[in-house]
Amino acid sequence: MGNESVLCPVCQGVLPASGKESYTALRGRLIVTNGYCAGGCAERRAEMEQQQAQRQAQQQTQQMARPQGLPSPAPVPGPAQGGRAALRVVR
Ligand SMILES: [Zn+2]
Repeated sequence: MGNESVLCPVCQGVLPASGKESYTALRGRLIVTNGYCAGGCAERRAEMEQQQAQRQAQQQTQQMARPQGLPSPAPVPGPAQGGRAALRVVR
């Protein structure tokens, strides 16, 4: 309880104390386990979300394009191959 206001939601580091009330035993323990937030996480998270959104958009466009770009999965019917095979068998 209360960890969310103390911890950085991005890096899970301890955010700088906002006041004397922030210096608690729990906070001290979290500093030991998680370390401090280096800062700039909000910007970093925004960049990550942008990259994720771009990747998702690219994946969606690729998935949309695939069925149209793919030729029919059935192999080309091979009377010619069959004929060659038959010729080889004859020889
Ligand atoms: Zn952080």
